[in-house]
Amino acid sequence: MNRKPIIGITGAYVKHNDYMEGVYVHHDYHKSVVANGGIPIILPYINPEISLETLGLCDGIILSGGEDVDPKLFNQDPHHQLGPTTPERDLAEIAIVKYALENDIPLLAICRGVQILNVALGGTLIQDISSQVSEPIQHSQKIDRSQDTHWVTISKNSRLFEIVGSNRVRVNSLHHQAIGEVAKDLRIVAQSSDGIVEAVEYNHPTTFTVGVQWHPESMASTNVEMNNLLLEFIKNSAKVMV
Ligand code: MN
Repeated sequence: MNRKPIIGITGAYVKHNDYMEGVYVHHDYHKSVVANGGIPIILPYINPEISLETLGLCDGIILSGGEDVDPKLFNQDPHHQLGPTTPERDLAEIAIVKYALENDIPLLAICRGVQILNVALGGTLIQDISSQVSEPIQHSQKIDRSQDTHWVTISKNSRLFEIVGSNRVRVNSLHHQAIGEVAKDLRIVAQSSDGIVEAVEYNHPTTFTVGVQWHPESMASTNVEMNNLLLEFIKNSAKVMV
């Protein structure tokens, strides 16, 4: 087969005004997927059943960034700093995670994506880093998303280390939530200096399953390490094409 791998990217909710609302993905996801040889499509979140049917079209899946995850999904009440949630999206993405892992579909989970990956597998979240973590570094950067602002330390025994070729890299940071208790089927492979979990991998990989708290898609055009993460994901998606 000669076609390019199709990468399904989960959509975030936006409401522009009373006449325009719907699912969207930041243009950087599309640009970085195309630049690395994939065909991006946006996955809607009508309901979990439809989400699973759309996966039949996909060779790889990106769980994209976006809204906060509803804390009822990890048995917590809403913290006063919790932002807007979209329960329909949460449920659709949890179904997507389980299906992808069971069916060996390559999965790249980004920002909110790494959080929903953890919740789908039974982990919890820190609902607001600034008020729930002592002496955190700045995770909601005030400069452009293409710029790196903090370090992460990467475990040497990880796929992420093999991809970026270093145990310490610079990343961007656009999150106020983070992984709390890590799901038992995931392992931490990167952390920031304040102990926040910045990347995880699946403990039983037969294919590519990596989650990062930063936004590699917004750094990929200017940063080789981050572009390699997209490139490896899309290469692995091409491998499983039927
Ligand atoms: Mn961060």
